Amino acid sequence: MSQQKKQYDMHWLTGQFFDPGKESRYRNSIKARVRFESRLALLLVAAVFAMFGITDYNLLGLTHEFYLLLTMRIAVVSSCIVLAFVIGHWGGYSRNTWLHGLSLWVLATGIILIVPLRPESILTQITAVVVAIMAFYLLIPNLLTVAALASLYLSVGFLASAIIYAGISPTDALSLALLLIMANIVGYCALLRIEFLQRKQFALLQDERDQNSDLLKEIKHRKSLELQLRMVAERDALTGLDSRSHFMKRAEALLQRAQLEKTPFCLFMIDVDHFKRINDTWGHTRGDLILTKIAEVCEQSLRPKDVIGRFGGEEFVVGLPHTSPSDAQAVAERLNANVEALSLTDELSELRLSVTIGIAAAHAEDDDLDALITRADNMLYEGKRGGRNRVVMYR
Ligand code: GH3
Ligand code: MG
Ligand code: MG
Repeated sequence: MSQQKKQYDMHWLTGQFFDPGKESRYRNSIKARVRFESRLALLLVAAVFAMFGITDYNLLGLTHEFYLLLTMRIAVVSSCIVLAFVIGHWGGYSRNTWLHGLSLWVLATGIILIVPLRPESILTQITAVVVAIMAFYLLIPNLLTVAALASLYLSVGFLASAIIYAGISPTDALSLALLLIMANIVGYCALLRIEFLQRKQFALLQDERDQNSDLLKEIKHRKSLELQLRMVAERDALTGLDSRSHFMKRAEALLQRAQLEKTPFCLFMIDVDHFKRINDTWGHTRGDLILTKIAEVCEQSLRPKDVIGRFGGEEFVVGLPHTSPSDAQAVAERLNANVEALSLTDELSELRLSVTIGIAAAHAEDDDLDALITRADNMLYEGKRGGRNRVVMYR
């Protein structure tokens, strides 16, 4: 729990997650937005910085200082535009933090350089610096440490420039220093708060996503369990045929439909001949293998619309919809012949397999499978009594 809490904890000074993995995931999640916002801010700042050229002209006219200022403004504005382009292609808060920070340093240098060229407009410049400090913290997003460093550079540089080139008095210098400190504190706190809030929102969203993904995993797991359970219930483990109960369900539905549509329906009871002897001679493991092979041959001898299940032991049951008694007889004879022709490998190759099949056709009054099964079973025993390896039809 404390480990969990630690993951959401953020550094009180930088507003970043303690957990580096989480911080990097957060930065990745805001990558596209930071890139877009950084470029937009750069273009806006470049436009504002360029517009101040008009005040230069009003103040200085076409003087040497004006041309110097103009050159400096062109340099700053073009760097901002180039940076906006570069950030568009290679910018990434997670990888190239310095690239986003570079724009702030270029701007700060530009602002500091105005003082020696226009020392008489120091009051306007103080206002502009305070606004710039706020912009540093708020316009270029999510770079608290970078913004703070560039802002300190601007503040110290501007203060030094004001003292050296504008010749402000020590008292004014102290007031200016206090004003810049205040602007920095306000900007820092505002951005810190934003950093906290955004990361908290990210952490909550992440939590929700994790929970959703856990839930999806659980649903998938349950579905696979359900499938396994259904397989166990519907399939016979040894032969892969329908289990007895599943066969009954399917065949019952087919019989009902046949009765409704007045179409013929037949049922086979199949029993492997002398299977006890096979087990006794070859062992149960080989007996199992032989039983699987017989099941395979039975299934392959039927049509896709027929249903087959393992009734129990070495007995199989088949439901044949849309099948007249004569057709059923033909199918059963074919199945019987296929089992006889079944070739087994190696030491079992001498083994002659056969099945006896009892057939019952549905009558109009048969409203469930039981009567059909009884009749087919009776035919099966008649076949056994008659010498096995044969097909017997209920007449
Ligand atoms: P019949 O021709 O009269 O049907 O003789 P049979 O030996 O086949 O009949 P019986 O009912 O006497 O014996 C069936 C044998 O089938 C007995 C039982 O051990 C075997 N058996 C039933 N289920 C399995 C199984 O899953 N695997 C194996 N190996 N043997 C099985
Ligand atoms: Mg039997
Ligand atoms: Mg048998």
